[in-house]
Amino acid sequence: MCPARHTVAVAGPRILIVEDDEEIASAIARALTREGYATAQADSVAGALEATQSEHWDAVLLDLGLPDGDGLEVARAVRAAGGTPVLVVTARDEVSSRVEGLDAGADDYLVKPFDRLELLARLRALLRRSAPAAGAAPIAIDDLIVDQVHRSVRRGTRVVQTTPLEFELLAYLGRRPGTPVSREELLENVWHHDPSEPTNTVEVFVSNLRRKLEAGGESRILRTVRGSGYALGA
Ligand code: CA
Repeated sequence: MCPARHTVAVAGPRILIVEDDEEIASAIARALTREGYATAQADSVAGALEATQSEHWDAVLLDLGLPDGDGLEVARAVRAAGGTPVLVVTARDEVSSRVEGLDAGADDYLVKPFDRLELLARLRALLRRSAPAAGAAPIAIDDLIVDQVHRSVRRGTRVVQTTPLEFELLAYLGRRPGTPVSREELLENVWHHDPSEPTNTVEVFVSNLRRKLEAGGESRILRTVRGSGYALGA
């Protein structure tokens, strides 16, 4: 359980690789370094918590099976601390662990074994989503306010805490109020996934997001439009 080891110091986005399999960790670090990322590695929950508490990271790649505990503990801590995106890279591909991970604040999943290019694409998408959208006007639909500059969400005066990906989903739907957007379009443009991929990712996110949007007893604003997809507002 050594603390995070810094393998390179370059000016690119800083990525923390949390992985106890040395071979996988090194392969990921090499792939990211070649692309200009700065990486550091942690091989335990304790090491990852220390690294995330003491330094800023642009994204965290997170293995779930760690020698001293569950990686989801790290995801929860990162989420509680703010907006650093988390990409779970895991051998666990069961639906139940996916749902659990999304609740804990993971933004995306990659199931091992994964393709290097797929990893890089997902990471780029995560970083793009977490970058501030300068100058974009706030979206207001009924009592919902989606502030694209400060990346905050409110219903009336109640602040709704969202993960970076939940925010992106709201902003995407909010740019076309009341218009249904298909699951395939969302997968392609919000998740940057292959839309033909069989997955319940969108459904799980919508259900989590609704719970947050309606936590104060507010009316349903994220609607399912049968046969067409999802829409924000009437
Ligand atoms: Ca592991």
